[in-house]
Amino acid sequence: MTQGKVTYKPAEEVDFVIVGSGAAGGVLAKELSTNGFSVVVLEQGPYLRESDFNHDETKVFTQHLLTNEPKRQPVTFRKIPQDTAKTQTCVIYGRCVGGSSVHFTANYWRLHEIDFREHSKTGDIPGANFADWPITYADLEPYYTKVEWEVGVSGLAGASPFDPPRSKPYPMPPLPVKGCGVLFERAARKLGYHPFPAPMAILSQPRPGRSACMNCGFCLGFGCEFGAKSSSLSSVIPMAEKTGRCEIRPNSYVHRIEIDKKGRVIGALYFDAKRNTQLQRAKAVILAANGAETPRLLLLSTSNLFPQGLANSSGYVGKNLMPNSNVVTCGVFDEPLNDYKGFAVSRVLHDFYELDPKLGLYGGGGLDARYDFTPIAAALSGMPPGAPKWGADFKKTLRQNFTRTFEVFCHGTSLPVESNGFTLDPQVKDAWGLPALRMTFRDHPNDLKMMSWMKDRALELLDAAGAKTKWSNPVAEQEFVVHLLGTCRMGNDPKRSVIDADHRAHDVKNLFLCDGSSMVTSGRGQPTMTIQALAYRAADRITALAKRGEISG
Ligand SMILES: Cc1cc2nc3c(=O)[nH]c(=O)nc-3n(C[C@H](O)[C@H](O)[C@H](O)COP(=O)(O)OP(=O)(O)OC[C@H]3O[C@@H](n4cnc5c(N)ncnc54)[C@H](O)[C@@H]3O)c2cc1C
Ligand code: SF4
Repeated sequence: MTQGKVTYKPAEEVDFVIVGSGAAGGVLAKELSTNGFSVVVLEQGPYLRESDFNHDETKVFTQHLLTNEPKRQPVTFRKIPQDTAKTQTCVIYGRCVGGSSVHFTANYWRLHEIDFREHSKTGDIPGANFADWPITYADLEPYYTKVEWEVGVSGLAGASPFDPPRSKPYPMPPLPVKGCGVLFERAARKLGYHPFPAPMAILSQPRPGRSACMNCGFCLGFGCEFGAKSSSLSSVIPMAEKTGRCEIRPNSYVHRIEIDKKGRVIGALYFDAKRNTQLQRAKAVILAANGAETPRLLLLSTSNLFPQGLANSSGYVGKNLMPNSNVVTCGVFDEPLNDYKGFAVSRVLHDFYELDPKLGLYGGGGLDARYDFTPIAAALSGMPPGAPKWGADFKKTLRQNFTRTFEVFCHGTSLPVESNGFTLDPQVKDAWGLPALRMTFRDHPNDLKMMSWMKDRALELLDAAGAKTKWSNPVAEQEFVVHLLGTCRMGNDPKRSVIDADHRAHDVKNLFLCDGSSMVTSGRGQPTMTIQALAYRAADRITALAKRGEISG
């Protein structure tokens, strides 16, 4: 591919407008432009380059350089629909070209076969709005493999006895084991578990234009200056631009999907960098704005034809949010581990992926070894409960613990609950005058019980690893989420889902949705590998529909 960049005029009708350039949007842009279509990607955030990234914790975190900014785009929170929502930082996602894949931790697991047909196996669960996927693991397997090879995932095939079948090994070996990985692995084996090298969307070997991981240590929350983290920004977006058919248009905040009198989409309305409204015309629109902003856009796009919001005849837009349950446990050791260096996770175990039904718990999860605190974050929230918070004793504890601590992170299922999700706040507005996102969320009681069980396993593991001090965060109802899953789910039944198995909205022929919102179950954590596999598959399906004239015809 040798072609250069292209720009289109908003009035020019392109084949596809994609809203959002994150994990899913980047893949869709690359695939559709490679398949010969003209594509405009509208991204609300800036187009930052590797040279723009730095390790300034205060700037990155308090000035929200890479993420949604609570002041300009407030979000409100309530636990149940009867409560009044209050403004709260409860949702964080990447707001720049590359989306959340720019600053994420990069754990990259496939879902297992069970995740696609768990409802059939388990049956109904009281309080949960549980369903099977309209596709199987086998349908998605080739696309998981495509993610690993194209985007760049390091790992060791066959290392976990619980892994689902795969058609190809990983394209590169796992990243080196960290100090915490060695202790985790030894302790896990002592307890009879099966730890394995963590699959990561981080290069262990260089690729053209991208370095292997330099272990800079500012990974979670930061952009990678070396292109080693396999974000959409570093991997698929450059490929999309090289086709000469894809324009990435940053600082373009989409606030409405426009339709004609027949209810067909004609393009996306957005605020440009000068806050002028533009309409980018397209034969079809694909929303890939994530599990919070995709449903918000549909709810903002009401009309006489779609009074409940676009593509919302089921009433399912924004519902069934699944953020994955999680809890952090920590241990302090005698000897320095220096785990602040490098990427976050090098060992994981999936022995609890499918819990024994005799435990009375639904779902399952995994444990991983990590230290993802950067210095200021460690000082503010990484010390043991009861540790001194000020003065010489605080400094001593910080000096001692920063190099000697690691976390056993527990992650697991979230059950879909119909009242959990996103709606438009009736009072609070964003800086452009649009209704703010309102999140309603309370964990299903099973998920909290399951996390308590998992936390006990993590503390046992820290004991077996020889931790001198150990503690756990409380298992509590979540009020802050980063995995935004299930809010426009796919399904065969238009009354209980928003999109079909081709990612096409049941209600609108030339509207497609593909991002975290498409997922039907949450897996056991780390959803982005699946989001990108879905995007590769969606691009194939959409290409076939377009070539058969079944989108615009
Ligand atoms: C701190 C953190 C750590 C994480 N670590 C992991 C991990 O280790 N493993 C894992 O699997 N997942 C992880 N995740 C989750 C992961 O980042 C997301 O699951 C994934 O990026 C979601 O992909 P997406 O395509 O749905 O949306 P995103 O990647 O969020 O992309 C959506 C894009 O759409 C843009 N957009 C939104 N609304 C509009 C609009 N109206 N107009 C124009 N553009 C818009 C956004 O700015 C963004 O760029 C992490 C997330 C966070 C926040
Ligand atoms: S730890 Fe590695 S992948 Fe992460 S930001 Fe640093 S160099 Fe990039």
